[in-house]
Amino acid sequence: MTSKINKQKKIALIAHDNKKDDLVNWVNKNNNILVKHFLCGTGTTSRIISERTSLPVKAYRSGPLGGDQQIGAAIVDGKVDFMIFFWDTLTAQPHDPDVKALLRIAVLFDIPVAMNQSTADFILNSTLMEEEYESLLINNTKIKN
Ligand code: PGA
Repeated sequence: MTSKINKQKKIALIAHDNKKDDLVNWVNKNNNILVKHFLCGTGTTSRIISERTSLPVKAYRSGPLGGDQQIGAAIVDGKVDFMIFFWDTLTAQPHDPDVKALLRIAVLFDIPVAMNQSTADFILNSTLMEEEYESLLINNTKIKN
């Protein structure tokens, strides 16, 4: 089973606190590409990007208060088809289980995920950014209801 990622990507942006400045800088650097797409993100990340860049971002709840799970649900519902998640590898996070669940859903639904700046750069500069893409969805025959 496949799922289509349109030319205009629905991109979720998430950054742990120590990575928020890096994500804001990355968004500003790539403004001319990101402006062509729909952006959303966890609460605080979205607010900071809205304040410090010229791009609108739809905000879900704050990550530790359920925002990561909302993004996961949005992936399931087809409302997110691309994720940039700058996470802090050096600090323990209270919502670590939510992050793990989110990453699992992202892999399950075969969406592009960047977890550091270089991956985000490579993805954003891929020719596939300008095209539709058929991602590989779950094989339903292996899923029990
Ligand atoms: P925040 O959540 O954007 O609300 O800070 C990010 C996260 O820690 O998952």
